[in-house]
Order: sequence, then structure tokens, then C-alpha cells
Amino acid sequence: MTRIGFIGLGNMGGPMAANLAKAGHTVQVFDLVAENIDRAIAAGCIAVGDAREAVTGCEVVISMLPAGEHVRALWLGESAGERGGQDLLAALPAALPVGALVIDCSTIDVDSARQVGEAARARGLRFIDAPVSGGVAGAAAGTLTFIVGGDAADFEAAKPLLACMGQNLFHAGALGAGQIAKMCNNMLLAIHMAGTAEALALGVKEGLDPAVLSTIMGKSSGNNWSLERYNPWPGVMENVPAARNYQGGFMTRLMVKDLGLAMALAEHSHSAVPMGALARNLFNLHAAQGQGSRDFSSIVELYLDKQDPA
Ligand code: NAD
Repeated sequence: MTRIGFIGLGNMGGPMAANLAKAGHTVQVFDLVAENIDRAIAAGCIAVGDAREAVTGCEVVISMLPAGEHVRALWLGESAGERGGQDLLAALPAALPVGALVIDCSTIDVDSARQVGEAARARGLRFIDAPVSGGVAGAAAGTLTFIVGGDAADFEAAKPLLACMGQNLFHAGALGAGQIAKMCNNMLLAIHMAGTAEALALGVKEGLDPAVLSTIMGKSSGNNWSLERYNPWPGVMENVPAARNYQGGFMTRLMVKDLGLAMALAEHSHSAVPMGALARNLFNLHAAQGQGSRDFSSIVELYLDKQDPA
């Protein structure tokens, strides 16, 4: 069994850490939010005082944070607003045997992933970027898809632990490749979620039942993950954010972040991404209307008629 440090216990990290504990590993956890730590303790994890303590004595350390700035602050010590950074990489050689494995599962910009990975290697540590797909339900069920960038040997070393949290484990290529593949995926996800919302809204306005229309499209050529597994229309599916007023799940502002990362990538390689750019504008507009903290499938509300107050 492995002693694991786990930092970032939000919508995704919380259930991921719980699955590692359930598999019998010793999981030392830390988050900035006390309730998240309490939930992890209830799931069998071990609470410590801070991030530095969480990595003490661990062979493997996993981070699951919102964005590149948080990851750089944690691992490199770059200042993150008032909090300042933590520079955990500097703490690791003292706390861990050389060659300890750092796994960052956050979805972040490629440059940050490479920067942290190279800094880790310079200190004799191993690092993989391992963003995930599958949402909060996948994190809870241990069925996530891991998309890994880094050395093949480090991917192999991480596999047994990743398998406690996920079902599909992919090695996308060298350092940063996990993030690139994840951005391509999430750009496509945003496009088919917006398209699914649009098609359902059209049918409903023309008098169709959203559940019946979902079943028809689900067995036809319009089928896709947003329709089949994460239906955005309330009342069509249980156990999805649409069934609980879009609470939990994948926040709209995180999708906006990911689409921004995809646009930066497109600029880097001079790629045309007209559908992705449109999806980014739609989710940005939705977030600007105060919806940033709700699940991204609430984009369906953009397509609904509002009552005219006049
Ligand atoms: P979240 O905001 O729910 O969780 C992030 C957690 O990190 C919070 O609990 C926060 O307190 C903690 N945190 C931030 N800085 C910290 C620090 N310095 N030390 C300790 N804890 C710190 O976000 P989430 O939905 O869990 O997403 C995490 C990452 O996973 C993001 O990069 C997101 O894009 C990606 N992701 C999310 C989903 C999803 O469906 N929610 C799916 C796939 C990937």
C-alpha cells in the first residue's frame, strides 16, 4: 500500500482521494476549505495541518486544483494573491525518497504543466500531467479517464494508483501532452453540450417532450455524451446536475477556463477553431450572467424564453 499526499479536495479531488483510501492506501489530505477536509476524513483519509505536512513521507503526491496559477503556487511557490505560494517541490526532497512521483490531475495550461514538470525533474522527482475526464459522477464511481503526459515509465508507475480512481488510462505523449489532449476533448465537450441544449430547446419549443426527443436522438446520429450521459434538460435524467438545479458537477467558469486554454493552444499552432471560439463565447456569456458557479450544462437556460417583465 502506498502513502499518498492529496491536495485539492473539491468536486473532483474529494471523491478521488476517497477512492484511494477505499482501496487501502494511506491518503494524507489538505484543502483550503475545512468542510472538504471533513468529508475526506469521513471517507477514510487522514487530515494534516497544511500542504507541506500532507506530502511528508509520501511516495506519491497528487494535486487536483482549479487552474495553472494554483498549481504553480503550490509546487513552485509563485505568489497566489494574498496567500503566497508554497513551493512544495522544494519541500519534497527532504520529505520523500528521490524519485517520488508527483501527479498533477488539474486541467491547466501546457506551459504551467511543463514548467512544474521540468522543475520536479531538476530536483530528481518524477512528474506526470494527468488531467481527467468523466465528471464528478466518474470521480465518485472511480471510472474516470486519465490522460497522461510524461515519461512512459512514470505513466506505468502511476497506473496502479490511477486505476483506483479511473477505468481508462491513456498515455498521450511527452510532458504536457495530457493537457493538450484534454483541451481538445473539452473543446469538443463544450461544442456538443451547447449543440445538445440548442437541439432540445428547438424540439421543446415545437411541442416535443424533452425525454422522448432525447431517447430518439440518443438512438440516432445525433447521439453524444452530453445527451446520453449528462442530459442538460431538467427532468430527463436522474443523478445529473440538471436534476439538482445545476449544483455540483463541472462549474461553468471552469469550462470557460478550459476553452480559454484551448484558444491559446489554437493560437500557438495557428489552428482554426471556429466552433470552439463560438462555444467559448456562449459559455462566457452564460458565466457573465451570474452562472459561473453552476454546472456547465445550465447553458441550456440561455436557450429558454424568459418572461417579458413589461
Ligand atoms: P473545485 O473548485 O471544486 O476544487 C478545487 C479545490 O482546490 C478546492 O476545494 C480548493 O479549495 C482547493 N485548492 C485551491 N488551491 C489550493 C491550495 N493551494 N491548497 C489546497 N487546496 C487548494 O474544482 P473541481 O471541479 O474539483 O476541479 C478541479 C480540476 O479538475 C480543475 O482543473 C477542473 O478543470 C478539472 N476537472 C473538473 C471536472 C468536473 O466535472 N468538476 C471534470 C474534469 C476535470
